[in-house]
Amino acid sequence: MTNIAAQLQKGLSKEQVTFLQDAGAIASRTGTPLYLVGGSVRDLLLGRPVLDLDLVAEGDVAALVAKLAAELKGEVASRSQFETFKLKTPVGTIDMATARTETYAQPGALPTVKSGSVADDLARRDFTINALAAHLSPAKFGSLVDGHGGEKDLAGKLIRVLHEHSFQDDATRILRAVRYEQRLGFTIEKKTEEWLRRDLRHLDAISPDRLRHELDRCFSEPLPESCLARAEQMGVLKAILRGLVWSDSLRQAVAGAREKKLELTPLVFLGLLAWLMTQKLADALAKRLNLSSRAHKVVRDTMLIKAAGPWLNAPDLSASGTYKLLKDREPEAVEAALLGNDTPVACERLQRFLLEWRKVSPQLSGDKLLAMGVPQGPLVGQLLEELRTLQLDNPGVTVAQEEAHVRKRLRDLASQNAPTKAP
Ligand code: ATP
Repeated sequence: MTNIAAQLQKGLSKEQVTFLQDAGAIASRTGTPLYLVGGSVRDLLLGRPVLDLDLVAEGDVAALVAKLAAELKGEVASRSQFETFKLKTPVGTIDMATARTETYAQPGALPTVKSGSVADDLARRDFTINALAAHLSPAKFGSLVDGHGGEKDLAGKLIRVLHEHSFQDDATRILRAVRYEQRLGFTIEKKTEEWLRRDLRHLDAISPDRLRHELDRCFSEPLPESCLARAEQMGVLKAILRGLVWSDSLRQAVAGAREKKLELTPLVFLGLLAWLMTQKLADALAKRLNLSSRAHKVVRDTMLIKAAGPWLNAPDLSASGTYKLLKDREPEAVEAALLGNDTPVACERLQRFLLEWRKVSPQLSGDKLLAMGVPQGPLVGQLLEELRTLQLDNPGVTVAQEEAHVRKRLRDLASQNAPTKAP
């Protein structure tokens, strides 16, 4: 039987290992067997960095958490449904849960949960490579619990569901399969892919919030473009929303951006998906994913920039004109438009806006304008905008030139307001 004690020593800090040993000993004494489970065991076996420690206990986990907090300088940070706890400890926050079984009344429904054994807990998991646990009791410390062939699938680099109806029970696993496959450089096992394709329609039963959460996690992967390409290839995107596509041109644009080492944040990928949409479709996407107001604005702004294409391509558009067109747009939308756009003139303007023009501001401050005699009120803001325009269209403008502009405007205004002489 495999034992991962060596991987634990290698992949975790000394303090983390000591914590797990102490926690395992306390759990054994109280008759509540404790295990490290899921992604942390998978990543230890793969020699990848372990981000979170997830623990599962068989029995009264609430009492165990309280005991661990008292004996190991911890603090219970939160307690949520299904007896899930966050324990703040000197070695980081640790998730702790009761081992449980889950049954699904109907596809997409939240599962009915009952406490159970660690074997039950592993049997409810998404893929064999995540259905792994390691004993933490002193007698068996590090010994692997692998009832579904997870270790073999790690070696074979396969993403495999535990049973034929897994995607029907919970179709978010479709996106999770794509995400793990692309992140780890694995392949979705043949039967699993067949079932995934067969069960795509079950994505309809997934709530907007759960769907958005899994998509966000795809966008937050190191290479979201690989996830999107694979999702497109298996028909996942159009199963989420008819008309949602990832195109070859977007793939190439992202590859170009990677070469230039541009930072591509998650919302840029949402913008890229919006780039290929009609307004109607974009609204449907926002509804299907219950987008936050900022994410929705990225979608809307991307479409607005697309609609502004003729202006962005006009031969006489100045830097300040570009600034005015784009200043209220979200930066992620501008970046998505830059990647999606294939006209060099517009691309150059979008890029210069992102890298230079949006950061330009006048050298004189509002206070300085007041000190120069500008009356308090909307004129201050108006003059600051004029000074920005001056900067944008005449790079290298000096403070003295800005002051000259303000004085001239004050003179002009004074002469406009001066009472006309009686004839
Ligand atoms: P990551 O490495 O992306 O943080 P993780 O493997 O730690 O991923 P989480 O999404 O944090 O995954 O979930 C923790 C564990 O819970 C997973 O390893 C998996 O075993 C299980 N799990 C999560 N979501 C599901 C699901 N929809 N169906 C079944 N099991 C799930």
